[in-house]
Amino acid sequence: MSKLFKRTKILATIGPATNTAEKIEEIIMAGANGCRLNCSHGSNEERDQQIKWIREAAEKKGRSVAILQDLQGPKIRLGFLKDNHLDLKAGDEVILESMEFEHDGGLVVPVQYNLAEKVKVGEPISMFDGKIKAKIIEIVSDTAIKIRVENDGFIMSRKGLNLPDTDFGGDILTPKDLADIEYGAGCDYDYVSLSFVQRASDILKLKQLLLSYGSTAKVIAKIETKKAIESDENLEEIVKASDGIMVARGDMAVEAGAEVVPIIQRRLIALCREHAKLCIVATQMLSSMVDNLEPTRAEVSDVATAVVQGADVVMLSDETANGKYPVETVKEMKKVILYTQNHSRIAPISKLPVGETSEIYDAISNAAARMAEKIEADVIVCQTASGATAMSMAAERPNVPIVSVTRNPRVANQLALIYANSAFVRTYSEDFGYDLARELKESGYLKTEEGKKDLVAVIVSGDKDKVGTDTIKVRWV
Ligand code: PEP
Repeated sequence: MSKLFKRTKILATIGPATNTAEKIEEIIMAGANGCRLNCSHGSNEERDQQIKWIREAAEKKGRSVAILQDLQGPKIRLGFLKDNHLDLKAGDEVILESMEFEHDGGLVVPVQYNLAEKVKVGEPISMFDGKIKAKIIEIVSDTAIKIRVENDGFIMSRKGLNLPDTDFGGDILTPKDLADIEYGAGCDYDYVSLSFVQRASDILKLKQLLLSYGSTAKVIAKIETKKAIESDENLEEIVKASDGIMVARGDMAVEAGAEVVPIIQRRLIALCREHAKLCIVATQMLSSMVDNLEPTRAEVSDVATAVVQGADVVMLSDETANGKYPVETVKEMKKVILYTQNHSRIAPISKLPVGETSEIYDAISNAAARMAEKIEADVIVCQTASGATAMSMAAERPNVPIVSVTRNPRVANQLALIYANSAFVRTYSEDFGYDLARELKESGYLKTEEGKKDLVAVIVSGDKDKVGTDTIKVRWV
């Protein structure tokens, strides 16, 4: 059983620190399985260039790499401030004005979004990642609101605002998001994630839009608002409506309190596993490595915890976007993942409740995972068309690497972020799973254990004209 493949994947955010073909290739070689392009920063031209570099590096390495377009959502930002800075004192009354004007250094401050249309008097608002807390005290005009500041501090140009109690009423896609969705649908994205999701309908709306533009990207809900997590039912509805979720711990801590985050993280990973959805744990995983070559003990423990809980993906943000050591950070994360997976077990969860029927592919994947463990298989091979069989197989969190083979390059790229999966594109034949295993053994990618001549492979497949996934085979390769 291979201990060399990491089963939890790494998603690295691209930014100034990684904005060259060489750096992108280096982070992929170091272990990044996917790249996040953040629409909150940079231009379409920059992202087009980054996509080209990622695809070229992936091709060179002969691996599938996922590209995620991260939509800003209603992340409301301040406009430009005079001298990029404004000191505030507890008790200051500040007007947030959405009409364009030049800030003169006073307490009328430009903001990117018309809050007067959405907020109510009495709701809390915070600025600059929660550093300034305030209350809304008046709707001043059709375009401006007044807030009272509750603590001393300062704000800077373009810093974000959080409105944890404001209901955006099913209207979270901003004009910027709509433009990014339309433009992005023509680009080579495998996933699109939406920030500040409040309910399942936000995701369904995004899916419809992507479909109308002919995009085949899968949709990720970023879980970070108080609204999204206010009830377990709402959380589960969002998980079911999405192809996956991101535990966006940065804004979640500002909106709901840092103490809430670990519990929501655990719940979301469990929900994703139950529903065979992708789960990404994000933000500050190795953040001290932005400036240092060594992570803190607490950060190492945080990455290991996400692995033990069974997350599909751990994400790097500032570490690879702006940090001094992007490549070293990816290597460090890979080292922690490998050690953790090789020295701990992920507790199984049941996708097959006793007494209830289930999808055939769920029953097949459950049986295949148990069988692979019983016979100490070296690899599980999934022959998959849409990726659903491979995702269902991954949801079992087997202790064995999964090699997926598909005709569809988009599916292969999407599977690059799925637990334990390495995906390959090959021309279809009835036995293309077995053929791939043989090819990977010959190339040295899959290795037999010392003293053994043959690989033991559990092959899961189906006939698309019959019931879908319906067959488990055991083959010596
Ligand atoms: C977060 O808030 O944790 C997050 C991942 O979102 P962003 O980096 O877009 O703020």
